[in-house]
Amino acid sequence: MLPNHPDETADSLGIREAVRKLCEGFPGAYWRELDRRSAYPTEFVKALSDAGFLAALVPTEYGGSGLSLEFAAAILEEVQRAGCNGAAGHAQMYTMGTVLRHGSDEQKRRYLPGIASGALRLQAFGVTEPTSGTDTSSIKTFARRDGDHYVISGHKVWTSRAEHSDLMLLLARTTLKSEVQKHTDGLSVFIVDMREAKGNGLSIQPIRTMMNHGTTEVFFDKVRVPAENLIGEEGKGFRYILSGMNAERILIAAECIGDAKWFIDRMTGYANERVVFGRPIGQNQGIQFPIAQAYVQMRAAELMVRQAARLFAAGRPCGAEANMAKMLAADASWAAADTCVQTYGGFGFAEEYDVERKFRETRLYRVAPISTNLILAYVAEHVLGLPRSY
Ligand SMILES: Cc1cc2nc3c(=O)[nH]c(=O)nc-3n(C[C@H](O)[C@H](O)[C@H](O)COP(=O)(O)OP(=O)(O)OC[C@H]3O[C@@H](n4cnc5c(N)ncnc54)[C@H](O)[C@@H]3O)c2cc1C
Repeated sequence: MLPNHPDETADSLGIREAVRKLCEGFPGAYWRELDRRSAYPTEFVKALSDAGFLAALVPTEYGGSGLSLEFAAAILEEVQRAGCNGAAGHAQMYTMGTVLRHGSDEQKRRYLPGIASGALRLQAFGVTEPTSGTDTSSIKTFARRDGDHYVISGHKVWTSRAEHSDLMLLLARTTLKSEVQKHTDGLSVFIVDMREAKGNGLSIQPIRTMMNHGTTEVFFDKVRVPAENLIGEEGKGFRYILSGMNAERILIAAECIGDAKWFIDRMTGYANERVVFGRPIGQNQGIQFPIAQAYVQMRAAELMVRQAARLFAAGRPCGAEANMAKMLAADASWAAADTCVQTYGGFGFAEEYDVERKFRETRLYRVAPISTNLILAYVAEHVLGLPRSY
């Protein structure tokens, strides 16, 4: 097992240890079985909710733990490090941030206690659409005001966990792009109660993917949503969503660090035990150097993740660090995954070792929630002052 590092501050609260203990109840066999059936890890998400881990960021006045992002990052890192998959529930942690920062007192009172206890699942985040891709301001889903309701029509894609969530945070246009001065104006954020909307214009179609992720397409056909479910001001939704994205990027980066540690743990163990040509394969530099390289890459990425989390927790600007952390950590977990398969040789492809499953799962993060190219474009433009490339 890899050693902890001196700056693992969350250790002081025993949070990492508590997460590890919980995860022991969900070994590889549990995940393999779900993976075969593309099923949702209901028991795991319930256990995380019951233990209060998914409520880490909800303030205590609403029934949460009121912890900082550093602690939330430690929780998700440990989940992945134990070989589990936090993607099934991680949105419950950060999606509520938009309600917390921009919602009315009434909305916070209505939603946050249920989200904190796990009674209310806010796990679906509907931004991406088939024809807009990364170009969020080009989304077409439209919410038209009609008395004390909005009537929403459109089509979202890759809306993960929609089938297992009670609520969805939805980004929709309330003014056409052609009618606003700034292309990011005229977008609004809504809380959609999917329990009411299903069968009343909202339908969900699962998308089968190479890993078990519970992602879907969601169709809105004149879905009526009460106007009181609008978050903040109409037309200002893009900036509300952006403010939550730094938290999402840092937390997912922490998951990637956890994945990288899992791969490094596993391949180090295997390289020590597997004997070929009369000696452990790890004695060969061709095996041990790539493992050492993966470790060095993971540690460097981990420093950026920690810095981004510290800046976020201190309320300081962290857009550059959140983006760079996400990119470095996703690259590090992918490099560790690839080296792990190489170290295991043929056994890297066998389901029973979990390596191939984690390999499939960790690949996602170089694409979602933001792809590497778009991070480089952000750094080029906003950090280095180069011309916008798109
Ligand atoms: C399993 C899964 C779960 C997801 N969950 C959610 C979710 O819950 N909610 C949600 O809203 N979305 C979700 N997404 C969507 C995800 O955020 C997008 O897939 C991602 O942002 C990339 O968008 P896209 O797939 O449309 O790619 P595109 O925008 O079509 O881009 C395709 C490729 O072209 C590159 N590219 C595009 N424009 C440029 C440019 N100007 N310069 C350089 N390169 C460029 C991109 O980097 C990418 O590599 C999920 C995706 C997946 C696969």
